Amino acid sequence: MSTIVSLEDVERAYGEPPVLACAGVSLSIEEGELVAIVGPSGSGKSTLLNIIGTLDRPTAGVARIDGRDVAGLDDRGLSALRAYRIGFVFQQFHLAEGVTAVDNVADGLLYTGVRLAERRRRAVAALERVGLGHRLDHRPHQLSGGERQRVAIARAVIGDPPLLLADEPTGNLDSVSGAAVVELLHELNRQGTTIVVITHDTGLAERLPRRIVVQDGRVIG
Ligand code: ADP
Ligand code: MG
Repeated sequence: MSTIVSLEDVERAYGEPPVLACAGVSLSIEEGELVAIVGPSGSGKSTLLNIIGTLDRPTAGVARIDGRDVAGLDDRGLSALRAYRIGFVFQQFHLAEGVTAVDNVADGLLYTGVRLAERRRRAVAALERVGLGHRLDHRPHQLSGGERQRVAIARAVIGDPPLLLADEPTGNLDSVSGAAVVELLHELNRQGTTIVVITHDTGLAERLPRRIVVQDGRVIG
């Protein structure tokens, strides 16, 4: 088993005078783990996830993601890492309105050079994988919240990234569709994807095998 995320004394400061959104964070996540990041609003959970996802860079410390020190990667290197190795899911789904589920999911391969017909073929397979084989040509407004989030998850995993990051994926969902999304994350994890999920739903977090507790920008448990 190898380490897919390794943070050593990571800090992220914003603004002048600097405010520390996270500080002194050291942790590692092994391949195959399913981890929750929990903590109050404003505690630095999203900052931490964005550093793990290379959407944000630490202002101090070392972040090693998928075996690479992000400090040694330029923007192109980071884009490639994100395009091929990391999937993202957000609370607000971030789907394109007026675009079918298939084309939304196919966008998950937009920056990989895969041709459109092949992207669509793989999008159909990804939608079937999340149980939406019957919603291929539906547009976001024709889907329930839970279905929209499953489309977003299909888009995130279409390229089979080893690492999937989800920032409050059930935050906009009722408890029944939220539970379905959580079950889907468990299923993807059983199939081999390492998953890090932010949640402030304590019931959800308790059902995950490992929790990282964040408070005031620090990992406290
Ligand atoms: P959480 O996800 O736990 O609610 P965040 O990581 O979003 O917390 O934010 C942690 C702290 O960092 C907050 O005080 C927030 O205001 C600050 N922060 C986050 N992003 C930025 C930014 N882009 N610019 C300035 N401050 C930020
Ligand atoms: Mg947040």
